[in-house]
Amino acid sequence: MKSSTTILCIISLMPILLSAHDMSLHMYIGSQTFDVWRNYDPEFYDSLVSAQTWWEQSRSLHRLSTLKFYYIGLTLPDLLRPAAQDTVRNILNKLYEESSNLCDPLKITETTHNLVQADMIFPTGTNSHNLEKLSAMVHYAKDQHWLPAEKALIYGAYMHALHDMYATFMQASRFGYGKCYDSDSALKYDILRYGELYHELFSQTYIGNWEVFVRPLYASPLLNSANQVDTFYADACNFLRIISVSGQIYTVWQDTNFVAVQRFVEAANSSSVGWSIQNLTQERLESYLHGWAILTFLLYGYSVDDYAGTVGGIYAHPDWGFTYIREVFWWNIGSAYTQWRIINDLPDELE
Ligand SMILES: [Zn+2]
Repeated sequence: MKSSTTILCIISLMPILLSAHDMSLHMYIGSQTFDVWRNYDPEFYDSLVSAQTWWEQSRSLHRLSTLKFYYIGLTLPDLLRPAAQDTVRNILNKLYEESSNLCDPLKITETTHNLVQADMIFPTGTNSHNLEKLSAMVHYAKDQHWLPAEKALIYGAYMHALHDMYATFMQASRFGYGKCYDSDSALKYDILRYGELYHELFSQTYIGNWEVFVRPLYASPLLNSANQVDTFYADACNFLRIISVSGQIYTVWQDTNFVAVQRFVEAANSSSVGWSIQNLTQERLESYLHGWAILTFLLYGYSVDDYAGTVGGIYAHPDWGFTYIREVFWWNIGSAYTQWRIINDLPDELE
């Protein structure tokens, strides 16, 4: 099939993939600090803790969703930066051009493609990382008494912005890159970006357990003949779709409406928050999130045959060189419930 076009497409995206800022640390820190919610929203705290322990054993889609959307939220403000929206649009556009050769999740629907042609535009200032607005959204969500899974995306996004406030001070001393200490010229010309990227890619992350967030992030349920969750499996390049044990696909991310995403939009637009984000709709945000799943999986995913050896992907393996990433890791990523590896055999013309 498709292998040569897919791989060409992915390889041409390599520079933008690798220039994406690292979000794994946000998810890992988030996974280690559930207790920040204990006093503020005990119900949410309890559900995070029980979800982390029991989502697989209890076969609960709600528990999985609570974790999944919390981890997605922990990366969300970075997706909403204009440069990241651009990156995601580029990925989806390139895949869309090849859509007749591809299968879900890489097959991009016309609706998804159309929706990401418009940017979600934030009021100037702190943009997608506006701590005041995100904190007002958290209060709003709590006051509505929504279910934990419905609040998770909002709570995660708020935590991301909080992490960044701390990082501003800590990175400043490490890279000379913070708000406080950089000269105007350093910030304007982004001269430290490549040094920082190189450092991030090829040095230890101190993340002790990649599975703790990678697993729920890309897990999808398999339904049995009674339409109950039989098990969860390690999917690839999408955050959620529903498949039967016989391999039949019931519903994929691009055709599904997610309440967690709807609640994010609702809270942002509520009168008590009043965050006027142009073009923010549930469907558009879901479309961008589909591209985000593809991009993050290429960074943090795993090989279809070697889950344990590869989980955490590029950032978890600073010893992998560019050639290895391109010719081994990306070649072998996929999931047991896609009929094919995401990227198939190396086409002759590329060897
Ligand atoms: Zn950020």
